[in-house]
Amino acid sequence: MSQTHFDVVIAGGAAVGSATAYFLTTHPGFRGTVAVIEPDPSYQHCATALSAASIRHQFSTAENIQMSLFGTRFLRGFAQALAVDGEQPDAAFREGGYLFLATPRGWPVLQENQALQRSLGADIALLDSAALRARYPWLDVADLAGGALGLSGEGWLDAYGMLQGLRRKAIAQGAVYLPRRVVGLGLAGGRVGQVRLDDGQVLSCGALVNAAGTGAPALARLAGIELPVQTRKRSVFYVQCPQPLPGCPMVIDPSGAYFRPEGQGFIMGVAPSPDHDPECAVTDFDVQHALFDEVLWPTLAQRVPAFEALRCTRSWAGHYDYNLVDQNVILGLHPALDNLYFANGFSGHGMQQSPAVGRALSELIVSGGFQTLDLGRLGWGRILEGRPIIEKNVV
Ligand SMILES: Cc1cc2nc3c(=O)[nH]c(=O)nc-3n(C[C@H](O)[C@H](O)[C@H](O)COP(=O)(O)OP(=O)(O)OC[C@H]3O[C@@H](n4cnc5c(N)ncnc54)[C@H](O)[C@@H]3O)c2cc1C
Repeated sequence: MSQTHFDVVIAGGAAVGSATAYFLTTHPGFRGTVAVIEPDPSYQHCATALSAASIRHQFSTAENIQMSLFGTRFLRGFAQALAVDGEQPDAAFREGGYLFLATPRGWPVLQENQALQRSLGADIALLDSAALRARYPWLDVADLAGGALGLSGEGWLDAYGMLQGLRRKAIAQGAVYLPRRVVGLGLAGGRVGQVRLDDGQVLSCGALVNAAGTGAPALARLAGIELPVQTRKRSVFYVQCPQPLPGCPMVIDPSGAYFRPEGQGFIMGVAPSPDHDPECAVTDFDVQHALFDEVLWPTLAQRVPAFEALRCTRSWAGHYDYNLVDQNVILGLHPALDNLYFANGFSGHGMQQSPAVGRALSELIVSGGFQTLDLGRLGWGRILEGRPIIEKNVV
């Protein structure tokens, strides 16, 4: 490749990197060049492609709610906005809703969260246990006080389709994708001046974006920055159930186990308990079958008696970037360097936040500040000054 200078280099070209490339090349104030460095153009191992691909507005942190509300608006207009030469991409967005269930102990928290969500424009309704029983006769509500249901805007999609649509449009608007890995940085005068790739090429850059997912801590270390992010493995199980579950949304059990419709069956999963959830090698794709047998199936068969007879026909494991401090994205510049932007530590909700984060990064890079959503609280300041923003709804 002959071009050796790019105004913006983005390390990592999955959901976050490609959304950033798309929003930068769309931004009316940006006239520069963009390179996206992505070592795996098949995307078979990245979190984006292996995710449960769902979007919800039911968070406890205002910024998370606002980012997902934007994600919904973006997905609704996705096919038209990202068409290339008249060909529209398909993110297969389905507004099937989320249903967070609560025992009497969790009910006040759910009510508090729902009030915040509604105040920000999310279409979330509270249902008591009688209303739940009437709406979902297949659900065991004996131990529940109620649930919070997304009536519109929440649901699921084809995350790989969204990623490919973003990538294709970014390329059509001038972004260059290189199938390489960033392995070294040249630092001078408090800036990243150069990026070294794994084939020995050296690119000079005006700014670098760390969108490397679970590769982000290693990339940060190249700049002498310790990112409080570790890799966590999560398994997803595809099951078939002999009985249909009419109107089934994405259901979040009070235990943290989840399930939702997918094709002719359902996908389901649960995070391991913290003492069984170590940092994991990104090469370890072994599915946590014991978690399914010992925790997930028994829990969900109690919640949905029809699941007693389910059959697991497929499963996979993926990894996400887990923020050890507060499970929220770390977004923006680190004070040590003037031109290294971070978007890491999504802790399991980065696919749905990628449009909002891509837009936010484009604003930071072009104008030096947030123009639409103020995401300043999610920057490095809170990490360095010990002011975590605890998100209560981490699934
Ligand atoms: C099982 C599972 C279920 C999930 N469910 C959901 C969900 O329902 N909803 C939701 O919103 N989120 C979900 N997530 C989380 C979500 O997938 C991630 O937060 C999101 O995809 C992160 O996107 P990303 O682009 O930052 O990272 P990734 O998708 O991991 O991409 C990072 C990219 O960086 C590249 N890279 C790494 N190192 C380098 C380097 N040195 N140089 C250049 N490139 C590099 C990698 O090849 C990779 O393609 C889930 C995750 C998992 C694993």
